Amino acid sequence: MELYNLTLREISEKIKNKEVSIKEVLDNVFQRIDDVEKKVDAYVTLTRDAAYKRAEELQERLDRGEDIGILGGVPIAIKDNICTNGVKTTCASKMLENFVPIYDATVIKRLNDAGAIVIGKTNMDEFAMGSSTESSYIKKTKNPWDLEKVPGGSSGGSAAAISSDMAYAALGSDTGGSIRQPASYCSVVGLKPTYGLISRFGLIAYASSLDQIGPFGKNVEDVALMLNVIAGHDEKDTTSADIGKKDYTESIVNDIKGLKIGVPHEFVNEGVHEDVKEAYYHAIETLKSAGAEIIDIDLEYAKYSLATYYIIATAEASSNLGRYDGIRYGYRTSEFDDLDDLYNKSRTEGFGTEVKRRIMLGTYVLSSGYYDAYYKRAQQVRTLIIDNFKKAFEQCDAIVIPTAPNTAFKFGAKTENPLEMYLEDIYTVPVNIAGLPGISVPGGFDKDHMPIGIQFISKAFDEEKLLRIAYTFEQNTDYHKNKPNI
Ligand code: GLN
Repeated sequence: MELYNLTLREISEKIKNKEVSIKEVLDNVFQRIDDVEKKVDAYVTLTRDAAYKRAEELQERLDRGEDIGILGGVPIAIKDNICTNGVKTTCASKMLENFVPIYDATVIKRLNDAGAIVIGKTNMDEFAMGSSTESSYIKKTKNPWDLEKVPGGSSGGSAAAISSDMAYAALGSDTGGSIRQPASYCSVVGLKPTYGLISRFGLIAYASSLDQIGPFGKNVEDVALMLNVIAGHDEKDTTSADIGKKDYTESIVNDIKGLKIGVPHEFVNEGVHEDVKEAYYHAIETLKSAGAEIIDIDLEYAKYSLATYYIIATAEASSNLGRYDGIRYGYRTSEFDDLDDLYNKSRTEGFGTEVKRRIMLGTYVLSSGYYDAYYKRAQQVRTLIIDNFKKAFEQCDAIVIPTAPNTAFKFGAKTENPLEMYLEDIYTVPVNIAGLPGISVPGGFDKDHMPIGIQFISKAFDEEKLLRIAYTFEQNTDYHKNKPNI
């Protein structure tokens, strides 16, 4: 057993008990990166030197008998749309290729205060727009389970890094599934917390009414540990909720007896891969034998989530990305005639195809002639979807659905037809539309041995129950113990 195989909790205990030095932990994880990163390409930037320097400081403090925090000395990876002071934060876009923030996002500050060591920034779809990480301007991240397939997206780099043991935990962002779907494709755990639970100060905005930062881990317990560190009110983010501090590790209990879990049969029907369906029904049986009561629920408006999402998200993106004009922010073209030409060329050259598509779509649905037909309509349907979930949670404690309708696909399989790519988000977007928490846990493999994720959804700010259900499911299954052969 190598150190890099251990979980976050295990390695942090070994560091604290002085069974290993922090330098040994770093040597081991960077050795792992040297061995597999050339195949996987999960990282955009590695912060090796800074990591070793920090390791030295932390070790000195530990040796003096100081408490270095619950993540003391643990290597962590960060999605490249979360600002890191002095370290490039590119959003995997030519537009921000050379952007070096002069401040840390709140989540980074919290990780640092808890003793974590950031070892690198991970690849993603450009500006977090995509479901495969293929729209990255920088590189293609491969799925560690099959290097010819995508890792999912947009936080594909973070998911692939955890799946191939190139970090102990990672951060991602989830606007419509970008934590949960890659977690599902790579067989790791990914949590999209309730809207407002985690500060977004320092997260580069995509769609502000939907964006949320969240953790990836090798198991549910590690995700709870990460949540303990990053959750909590932040006055720098006006959407941050003040609900007091909780200890999410108290939810690491293998017991769901008597809990009611809702199953929306009709929603999980068409367009779902047979193997995913099979894993899903198997998951329901597992929950039943662990003592949960299974309830039929109706999420009749959920099927409109995808259309609603792609109107609201693109509308908000078109506004958020207006700032990248070559003057205030981002890449500037080298040759131009006048101001309009500068704006035009900078944006034309700086943004990739998918980002442009979304800016155009978003501008269209917000334009005066179409606002009522599209944007306003989408907001109205959003309310119906929120009400749907409210009603469902009067009947049950949590909902179980697959994380994605399919398993990871081959590179290029869906890039020609964006609608097909968007369909991968059918089971993840409702959660963002309603601001709820959702978690993806390993839930099986298809016939080609590609991972399948099972998703649990709970009421807002009920992460405790969500984690308890996810943990119980994990303890009653073996899928998370499988590792890719890389
Ligand atoms: N796949 C979705 C999209 O392309 C979700 C992305 C995300 O969650 N950042 O918009």
